[in-house]
Amino acid sequence: MKESSRRLGSAAALMAVVFLSGAGVACNKSKPDTPPAEQTSTAASSGSSAASGSVAPDVTAPKIDAARAMQYTMAVTAFGPRPIGSTNHKRLEEYILAHLKGDEVVDDAFTADTVEGKFPVRNIIAKFPGSKDGIIVIAGHYDTVYSLRNTKFVGANDGGSSTAILLEIANQLRGKKRDGYSVWLLWTDAEEAVRQWSDTDSLYGTKHLAAKWQQDGTIKKIRAFVLADMIGDADLNIDREGHSTPWLEDLVYQAATNLGYQSHFFARTLDVEDDHLPFVKLGVPCADIIDLDYGYNNVFHHSVEDTMDKLSAKSLQTAGDVILETVWMIDAR
Ligand code: ZN
Repeated sequence: MKESSRRLGSAAALMAVVFLSGAGVACNKSKPDTPPAEQTSTAASSGSSAASGSVAPDVTAPKIDAARAMQYTMAVTAFGPRPIGSTNHKRLEEYILAHLKGDEVVDDAFTADTVEGKFPVRNIIAKFPGSKDGIIVIAGHYDTVYSLRNTKFVGANDGGSSTAILLEIANQLRGKKRDGYSVWLLWTDAEEAVRQWSDTDSLYGTKHLAAKWQQDGTIKKIRAFVLADMIGDADLNIDREGHSTPWLEDLVYQAATNLGYQSHFFARTLDVEDDHLPFVKLGVPCADIIDLDYGYNNVFHHSVEDTMDKLSAKSLQTAGDVILETVWMIDAR
């Protein structure tokens, strides 16, 4: 993904400009410029049998097994670089599918025409049916940066953590009756640019899928699209993302607060171009759960330093549990 702008930034350049201009103090751990709105109805109903809705979930959201999520991240990262068109990418597709045996799985496979040539692209979707009419999509990309394919870049956080958290969320949904919306887990492909990020060189997989789902009517059924990206950083700081839908971001913050994780959320607000954008453009409520503060001044992002030692099970626990809590809160809305 790419950061397009930030309202409150940590970039040294921005800090210098602000400082020199005497415009005030910018701090990357400042409060968000727009405080999350109070969630009265949703907060009150979460995890409570006193929910006013007639089909409120009768169970609270499950918690992920973070040690297992960490093992998945390690296994995925151990494949090495996983750019589109590579053998490692193919191996990872098979790894994901092997972990979804017995689940309802479909894929959206096509050929992407890029400035670096044609590539096979494959979005993978696992469907967990619910009792309510509508779909909640939880997504994350599994490809790694193409332009870094000949380096030691393994994308432990960027590609690895998102692949793994979805696999673990599948474990939590499998074999249980969902008293809520259907949940579709979506491993997106070709999120990364092949040369340099631009409107045309990026998000190949989700652009294709969003168009397909618009055509077949699926888009209208999606109640929320929750995206996880770079959620494994041991120093977890999930940003409030500016293209995301305010009510859904508020709900994510409320979910984090319910679980006592709010200190890891929304210290700053910035706009990020990511896999949610094709769905934002079609009017789908979206939340990009992303930490673009990966290492000092984000130095580990798209760097060979993006390795397992920078991640923690605690962060996967935080992000995974907040995602599930959010889903359960959407069910109860
Ligand atoms: Zn990336």
